[in-house]
Amino acid sequence: MASPILVTGGAGYIGSHTVRMLAAQGRKIVVLDNLVFGHHDAILDESVELVVGDIGDKQLLEELFEKHRFGAVVHFAAYAYVGESVTDPLKYYRNNTAAPLVLLQAMQDFGCKVFVFSSTCATYGSPEIVPITESNPQRPINPYGRSKLMLEWVLADCDRAWGLRSACLRYFNASGSAEDGLIGEDHNPETHLIPRVLMALTGEIEYLEVFGTDYETPDGTCIRDYIHVEDLAEAHALALDYLAGGGDSIQCNLGTGVGVSVKQIIDAAEEISGKNVPVRYGPRREGDPGMLVADPSFAKSKLGWEARRKDVREMVRPAWKWISGPRAGRYAR
Ligand code: UDP
Repeated sequence: MASPILVTGGAGYIGSHTVRMLAAQGRKIVVLDNLVFGHHDAILDESVELVVGDIGDKQLLEELFEKHRFGAVVHFAAYAYVGESVTDPLKYYRNNTAAPLVLLQAMQDFGCKVFVFSSTCATYGSPEIVPITESNPQRPINPYGRSKLMLEWVLADCDRAWGLRSACLRYFNASGSAEDGLIGEDHNPETHLIPRVLMALTGEIEYLEVFGTDYETPDGTCIRDYIHVEDLAEAHALALDYLAGGGDSIQCNLGTGVGVSVKQIIDAAEEISGKNVPVRYGPRREGDPGMLVADPSFAKSKLGWEARRKDVREMVRPAWKWISGPRAGRYAR
């Protein structure tokens, strides 16, 4: 039987959808999550072992590697609030850059040399050329992006030094939720556009504030590349297979290649729910680039991966099912 896989942050949003897919493929998964942002209930599969703890806990990691002899690590555990990273940068460098060094040390000590990393398009900053290819300069504009980029550099150095092979998956805007509505996105606080649009529809928030209407885009609102979380999950499975098959370290953009504006998201939500979104138009949010869209062709050529859903309504529909369903978009706390 294949070696088990350690998934850090596997009880979080993208992690839990990925764990579910990997477990459904018959892989043995151990999740390490401190449940600060993750949710116990987001792990549905009984074959998955959940260990509650920190990625920076050396002793715990050594015990886990000793016990399970992991063949690979998929690393999601991180903080991801851009605004908070500006006001509390050390929290981000400590958690997103320094703590994974403990995890990587355990990997080196136990001879585990396959690593799939949740990186981000935030490592590109405000790119001059869109769509963004992997060779675009990486000039992050906030500590969150820098904390992730530094770990990319660490991974490249570990490859040179001891043969760690890694896949840095640079996500664009993760969105949507499981098609069956059983798991979904539950952040606290929730800052992301699609859930906030839907929260304005359910009345959980009074209105959606649109951040800026004067961007150089066709309707003046920001354009992003929204990628379905289950499509992201699939890319992790393919990256694991690619590395297990001896593939070299890679960095891949994961997006649809389709740009969607804030206004188009609101239109999609209104169409799907049959209700009007209460909206107020406000100023730009600091640090928001006008347009971020992936060129995802490298992931296709290297991993055989392509987003299955490219119409943003396919992301908004399951998100609406989750948020308007029995759990109202929230796990038990
Ligand atoms: N946005 C908005 N109102 C909100 C949240 C987000 O207008 O309440 C806009 C934001 O300015 C950005 C887009 O929606 O252009 C996506 O933002 P999100 O925070 O979801 O992801 P980001 O691209 O910042 O990672």
